[in-house]
Amino acid sequence: MTTAPPRRPRWRSLILLALLLAPLLWPLQQLAERYYSTQLAEQNRQTLDLYVANLLGTLRRFEVLPAILGGLPALRDLLSEPADPARVDAANRLLTEVRGATGADVMYLLDPSGLTLASSNWDQPDSFVGLNFSFRPYFQEALSGRLTGFFGLGTTSGRRGYYYAAPIGEPGHVLGILVVKVNLDDAEKLWGNTPEQVLVTDGHGVVILTSRADWRFRASRPLSAEEHRRIAAEQPYPTLDPLPLALDANAWLIQSRELAETGWTVSILAPHRLVDRPVRTAVAIGGAALLVLLLLLGLLLQRRRHYLERIALDAQARRELELRVLERTRDLETLNSRLKEEVLEREQAQQELIRAQDELVQAGKLSALGTMSASISHELNQPLAAIRSYAQNGEVLLDHGRVEEARGNLRSIGELTGRMASIIAHLRAFARRDRHAPERVALQPAIDDALALLAKRRRALDVELIRDLPEATFWVQAGETRLRQVLGNLLANALDALSEKAPPRRIWISASQDEEGVRLTLRDNGPGFSAEALVHAREPFFTTKTSTQGLGLGLAICDTLMRALGGELLLDNHPEGGALLTLRLRNAEPGAALPSPEDTFA
Ligand code: ADP
Repeated sequence: MTTAPPRRPRWRSLILLALLLAPLLWPLQQLAERYYSTQLAEQNRQTLDLYVANLLGTLRRFEVLPAILGGLPALRDLLSEPADPARVDAANRLLTEVRGATGADVMYLLDPSGLTLASSNWDQPDSFVGLNFSFRPYFQEALSGRLTGFFGLGTTSGRRGYYYAAPIGEPGHVLGILVVKVNLDDAEKLWGNTPEQVLVTDGHGVVILTSRADWRFRASRPLSAEEHRRIAAEQPYPTLDPLPLALDANAWLIQSRELAETGWTVSILAPHRLVDRPVRTAVAIGGAALLVLLLLLGLLLQRRRHYLERIALDAQARRELELRVLERTRDLETLNSRLKEEVLEREQAQQELIRAQDELVQAGKLSALGTMSASISHELNQPLAAIRSYAQNGEVLLDHGRVEEARGNLRSIGELTGRMASIIAHLRAFARRDRHAPERVALQPAIDDALALLAKRRRALDVELIRDLPEATFWVQAGETRLRQVLGNLLANALDALSEKAPPRRIWISASQDEEGVRLTLRDNGPGFSAEALVHAREPFFTTKTSTQGLGLGLAICDTLMRALGGELLLDNHPEGGALLTLRLRNAEPGAALPSPEDTFA
């Protein structure tokens, strides 16, 4: 049986497929990026809103404070009499008190020249009292009668703050200026320590508040000469020349909100990696799913290939089996026809054998008849001679008128012809070729017939016959003639054997019957079978006699006939010497006794 060469796994085609499917990951990445960016933006927008609201809340809380405080009598009194220490003290205390109540960083009162008259930190080392702030832009603005706001570093504290300045008095007649500084340092603290960064740029684009210390006071855009000049004049930052803030636009997702009232921009910056990470995870999951799909596909393809291969193998095996069956059938047909021929030949051989056996039996019979003819002719000659002399004697008696005696002669002649007829009848029964199928035969008359034919020889040898046969007739399955032929042969053999020894000579004939059949034994007190004869006597042409005496066919014929009748012939020697032959015959249904020819030789 030939098998297909094992194919290598289709890994190469799987890799090719993977390369073809890989572009599918790109839209997945885009989709995931858009999704996570949107999510992050939404989240950051809310955070930004919160921070803006917080910042605005802080600023607005203090926006109106300067105008309100400007109306307080203690401050106005000081402005009208700046040199009065009592008024200075009263104003200082008031400002300290209000600062404490509002949470402002510092509050102070300037006269129209920018000199600080009173301050909430009057008793602190960094007290503003006596300092001049006329350089601050809010001073100029407020002097012109407007409420104003300004981002800047405290010149003494260094803290970032938003300054609200409000004029006291009428526009065009400003008595003084009240300044409230809001501390912005605390606003940064609220922004916490998250990956997102917050930064607030002022109108110059300079970072004033941020969650990252290294970004502070950096310029988010290039500054113009005018802006440089203003920075130098107003000094809002610790440096006069802010360094540029170099932000990698790709590294951050930026959202901004303008604060109109201050001119600031609040921005929240989310690092791009916050999006990259889930996107990478999503792509990895997608890739893994794709890989699993590919593997499953590969597995399915492989299983399908195995299945197809198995089907192909099965089909091939089936084809081969069919071929073998066909071959076997052809062989068997050839064998069958040969067997038929052989059977035919056997049948022919069998028929020829049967014919040959038949011929043999007949030949044996004729040969036996030949050997018996001498004694038979003697038997017939005897009565013939007697008849002749009775007839001649009868004639003489009649001539002398001795009619009664002549009648006696005639009666004797009649008896003698009866005896001759009997002899001839025995011969006829013997020579007849009978049917092959076993028939019902009476045993004792057959024995009588066989004995009758050999009676003369037996008497000549002076053989004593010892019969042990029951009165009742034994019916056996045999053939009338065949049984007689067998018995005749066996008795002739016994007489042959007895002739070789000195008297007394005896023949025993006995028979018994049981359910299995009839058992007839013939014993003589002759020399018995030689060891060789016991083995070979049943073979055709085995004889120990001279060629004139025997052909070696007798027992061969008897054996064949017995087996054909379903019986058996057993050869043995009697313990006391002499041959012991046993005939086993099958039982037959009893029937009417055949008219037995009169045994005139007994
Ligand atoms: P044949 O009588 O022509 O020799 P048989 O087949 O009848 O052939 O017998 C074969 C041989 O068996 C005889 O030659 C003889 O040696 C032996 N045999 C047969 N019957 C007897 C017997 N009653 N006693 C001794 N030997 C016998």
